[in-house]
Amino acid sequence: MSSNKFYDDLAKTVKETAQDCKIYKNRCDEVEYDLDVSLNDTNLGEIPYIPWSFFKQSSNKFKELLRGDTFNKLDYWMESSSTTGDPSIVGRLENDIQVLKANYNDVFNTFSVKDQVNNLILFAPNIRFINKIRHNFYDKNAYLLYKSIVDIWEGKKVHYLLQFFAWRTIWKLMTTFKPRAVIGINGKLLDSELDRVERNKIPTIMANSPLWMHKVLLDFYKAKKKTLDLSENFNIITGGGGWEGTKGRVKLGYKVEKPEFIEQMCDMFNITIDKFCDNFAATESPLACGGHWSKKYNDFLFHVDNYKGRLALRNIDTLEPIKKTGMPGVLEFITPYGVDSYAGVAVLLDDIVQVENWKECPECGRKGAIFRVIGRLTPSVGKGCSSLFSLDAYKL
Ligand SMILES: [Zn+2]
Repeated sequence: MSSNKFYDDLAKTVKETAQDCKIYKNRCDEVEYDLDVSLNDTNLGEIPYIPWSFFKQSSNKFKELLRGDTFNKLDYWMESSSTTGDPSIVGRLENDIQVLKANYNDVFNTFSVKDQVNNLILFAPNIRFINKIRHNFYDKNAYLLYKSIVDIWEGKKVHYLLQFFAWRTIWKLMTTFKPRAVIGINGKLLDSELDRVERNKIPTIMANSPLWMHKVLLDFYKAKKKTLDLSENFNIITGGGGWEGTKGRVKLGYKVEKPEFIEQMCDMFNITIDKFCDNFAATESPLACGGHWSKKYNDFLFHVDNYKGRLALRNIDTLEPIKKTGMPGVLEFITPYGVDSYAGVAVLLDDIVQVENWKECPECGRKGAIFRVIGRLTPSVGKGCSSLFSLDAYKL
């Protein structure tokens, strides 16, 4: 696909969104945006954007952010996890959901080895449990975005490590009067599965939030007092944020330092840093950015696939576009694909990132901007895709 096609598609999507979404039309009118302007790398930052706060439940704009007659056709809302109880809510029809899944799938394949591996250890509860977590807005169910992501692993042998503990939930209800689900790690399953993978040299991917993995595996490591040799057969995919110690409805009292995580996982499983992939995405945009570990930055470097979208960076105080490298700014995702249902063509997120190169990655050679995640405008608010609950039952 030529760059022109991308920009033609983008200009068309911006114009059509202004035609069938009143909020977006108002955003365009506010800045007297010329909907017929031809787009390129230099004027991306002028495209009117929707701030992340518009998608919040508390803003009560998420229904108006739908395009055309999406609401009538909508099966369910997608909801982000949230520590504050104020999630982002996005309505997507099937064709947009397919684009979103394809974007995640590409990341898992190009930055890791998804399609070459059939065995998966997932730090997540079974989909049957995820399906029970739902809200209802305007008479339509809302599910965690994570529900759609789990579909991507369909057909593989998946070991779900998070389990629902009925007795502990009842005990919690009796002792605290809070009807809160207690879930925890199935330590026996983790132990036996790692043992099986090591003995039979089974190619395996371990995936989900680093927050879950880090704590559980450290406890496991301490209890077992031994390392495993999984060298060539073991890949780790992290995603959904959580490095800063807040993950969806979970707050863990400590931060997971990325270099420490990498080092410990390498030691524990006898693997090298090329086996790690981190995924950066947000509920409000269909884009997903794959990341590999960088020794130079001692951090994950995330890549924006030019075929799928672009990023814009904005000054933290003025929100004016920044074109520099090595300077923190607020991240904006721009894409004409996967946003037929709602005004997601340009979304300003609450993540603060630093672009290290606008053209390509000097380490892996991929084309497109690369960035590192520095922080968040609202640091105490958990966001991202794979939530969950209380870590009380967090024993091996
Ligand atoms: Zn790279």
